Amino acid sequence: LVDLKDHDPELFDLIEQEKSRQWRSLELIASENFTSKAVIDCLGSALTNKYAEGLPHARYYGGNEVVDQVEELCQKRALEAYGLDPEKWGVNVQPYSGSPANFAVYTALLRPHDRIMGLDLPSGGHLTHGFYTYSKKEGTRKAVSATSVYFESLPYRVDPETGLVDYKQLDRDAGLFKPALIIAGGSAYPRDWDYAKFREIADANGALLMMDMAHISGLVATGEQASPFDVCDVVTTTTHKSLRGPRAGMIFFRKDERGFEGRINQAVFPALQGGPHEHQIAGVATQLLEVMTPEFKIYSQQVKKNAAALAAKLTSLGYTIASGGTENHLVLWDLKPQKITGSKFEKACDAVCITLNKNCVPGDRSAVTPGGVRIGAPALTTRKMVESDFEQVATFLHEVLVVALKLQEKSGPKLKDFVALLDGNAELKSIRERVN
Ligand code: PLP
Repeated sequence: LVDLKDHDPELFDLIEQEKSRQWRSLELIASENFTSKAVIDCLGSALTNKYAEGLPHARYYGGNEVVDQVEELCQKRALEAYGLDPEKWGVNVQPYSGSPANFAVYTALLRPHDRIMGLDLPSGGHLTHGFYTYSKKEGTRKAVSATSVYFESLPYRVDPETGLVDYKQLDRDAGLFKPALIIAGGSAYPRDWDYAKFREIADANGALLMMDMAHISGLVATGEQASPFDVCDVVTTTTHKSLRGPRAGMIFFRKDERGFEGRINQAVFPALQGGPHEHQIAGVATQLLEVMTPEFKIYSQQVKKNAAALAAKLTSLGYTIASGGTENHLVLWDLKPQKITGSKFEKACDAVCITLNKNCVPGDRSAVTPGGVRIGAPALTTRKMVESDFEQVATFLHEVLVVALKLQEKSGPKLKDFVALLDGNAELKSIRERVN
């Protein structure tokens, strides 16, 4: 019963440092958020001690009478939060995170080397949706995630002009490639998804349709983005982004004669995972309770308003926002017109305690040298910031960019030389003092 502070002061101090970094900086990473004390209490609870392989009331270990209730509560709240009829939809709440959730779906519903189509990584897709790198010199293709190792992937893209999913290309390529599964959803797409179009293309080619709503699951639960549940066969999500829960994953599946329930449950355990993390599952359960409150609906609306205010302010300053704006929680800022890479701008922002990430923008050919940055509103909205605060954030970003462009003139193209000039720069120091 010794506190961490006394048991391991070195580690305690590191955690305190990270806490302070999170609170001092402007947290703009679109996939991050601040969980509640209730969620943290679950993560640090006695539930972490328990082995519970299997499903509620069908476990491989004794002593699960309480844990069964925790997991069932989480399942019940997950279905309720998305307005799903338990006769028609089921959910597995055991995936350790988003990537294992996606791979469990593929394991359950596909055979090795089946064909899949997901949004390309440089277009804003996620690695687990199937992605390769190509070497022109060697004429080779390399699978980057296990998805492209075990399945054949032909990604679809966004239109480089509009920044919107190129449904025509998806339609044409799906007709030729005949995928077994089409995956909607992504990590850096600022617009809503045309599920009816995806369904039409999937049906025309005999494909299953999955939505990975990881980024927008909080917005979907509150009706601030379209629901994928009307037409998709399977929906996966993480729970730690706009949903604001602990790090974990969930898989929703239709309950029908196709038998997804048994196949998906079996893929999660025993195929891919061992004992479920019931402390995480409890954290998801308590977060889902919050998600169903009117306050969380207001929060989700504010997330969208804040992202829109940031996009509008950057546009008014003359900058290029991919797709011309945003309909959700994130903004993709195309820095190519300013002739600076996303990597350099990310480093310059780090120097003033603004945390965001380099990101591909429409028209980028490679994920290695991204031409812009991704900026998200969920975390700072949790800290009660509103539109005027986000306009101020946009002004800070503009100031940082002006300094970064001057430093780039001195440093030349290499990132290492650019970074060397950041430390001790008086203009950045002055911005940092105002940010803090
Ligand atoms: N799916 C999408 C769309 C994501 O953006 C992410 C993570 O960023 C994942 C899946 C993977 O989630 P995790 O990092 O929890 O494995």
